[in-house]
Amino acid sequence: MKPRNPPPPTYYFGYESPPASGNAINGLGSEKRSRARHVFHNATGGPLPFDAVDEFFGYINPWSVVRYMLANAWQLRQSDDPPKGAPTPVEDPVEMADIIKSEARALGAELVGIAEVDEHALYQGREAPYKYAICIGLSMDRDEMVQAPQEPAAVEVMRTYSNVARIAVGLAKKIRRRGWPARVYGNPNGSDILQIPLAVAAGLGQLGKHGSMISEEYGSNFRLAAVLTDLPMAVDRPVDIGVEDLCLTCRRCVIDCPPGAIFNEKQLVRGEEKWYVDFDKCLPYFVKTLGCAICIEVCPWSEPGRGPELSQRLLARRPVGPTASPT
Ligand code: SF4
Ligand code: SF4
Repeated sequence: MKPRNPPPPTYYFGYESPPASGNAINGLGSEKRSRARHVFHNATGGPLPFDAVDEFFGYINPWSVVRYMLANAWQLRQSDDPPKGAPTPVEDPVEMADIIKSEARALGAELVGIAEVDEHALYQGREAPYKYAICIGLSMDRDEMVQAPQEPAAVEVMRTYSNVARIAVGLAKKIRRRGWPARVYGNPNGSDILQIPLAVAAGLGQLGKHGSMISEEYGSNFRLAAVLTDLPMAVDRPVDIGVEDLCLTCRRCVIDCPPGAIFNEKQLVRGEEKWYVDFDKCLPYFVKTLGCAICIEVCPWSEPGRGPELSQRLLARRPVGPTASPT
């Protein structure tokens, strides 16, 4: 798709004295392996450097978006309810993982995978309440999303966040009825965990050049929620669907990003070479357009039905042998 009438990257709002660079807070250029820090989308309870823009973002969202935010906040009040009774013993974690995934799908999940919570999937100063993360993805209505960066796309993003969180709340209830604890993490204002690294570890997809995850089934046209629990379950492995192969040559998202925020090469971020989006360039445009989303929708993987064929073609192109996988 081509973005429809994207506004130019000029802004009628801004800081007289800008806070520290978001890229510096995110650890761009830092060789030291460290955890991420909160910078925007505040659900931390404490002040954040970009709180003023975050607040402004909240004020300018139209009612069509706000009603889904409110519905989401209302259902997420059940995020951390206690378990019911003593834990039911789990003899076969593989079978339990299958049961949980079936239950998530029955509740409406389109993507579901399980990972152990790694410390680098936690924000600085946060602890994982439980050992496992059940990562859940739900696709967005493509007809609405191709209108990004216009309002219908913003509505669809928040509608999907609300729906995927509802699935997570339902799944957490089922886990608690087995006597095991479960905490729901909805979005966009996550507090403890980084959803994308967890979802990548759980095999839902791979990180793309545009800084979002790409799944084989829906490209980046989906939203995530997670349930953390101690219920013993077998974990999934990361997948390789060929995202790296295409991102190394494709520049679609780089070209179509109005403020030019997407780096064409991997960057060193907190001790890791990875795809990275320039926070300081993206954020004002993201706020101005109620969430933008151009980059995830122009990505060829997000074209309905295209992922499996793309993956097959990209993987088939790789040389056979020990060097078959790209870095
Ligand atoms: S990087 Fe940010 S500004 Fe650029 S297309 Fe993506 S969401 Fe929009
Ligand atoms: S648009 Fe191209 S470069 Fe950007 S994430 Fe998608 S495949 Fe990768």
